[in-house]
Amino acid sequence: MIYPDLSEPLPRSTCPLCQKPTVVAFRPFCSRRCADIDLGRWLSEEYRIPSTENLPPPLEDDIKNNTEQEYD
Ligand SMILES: [Zn+2]
Repeated sequence: MIYPDLSEPLPRSTCPLCQKPTVVAFRPFCSRRCADIDLGRWLSEEYRIPSTENLPPPLEDDIKNNTEQEYD
């Protein structure tokens, strides 16, 4: 039985940060260092860009009250 060597570089695959050969254990990166750099970059961008997707949806009750108003 052959066990894969996780330190073996993948053929024709390079780290997106430094273009070194990708290592299976840290793919698509070449090392933990590059993986950490990318993660940190991603997290800081998440922090910097304000997200509008967490805003609450419009209240359906308000819309319903406006359109289905009954007149006595
Ligand atoms: Zn790298």
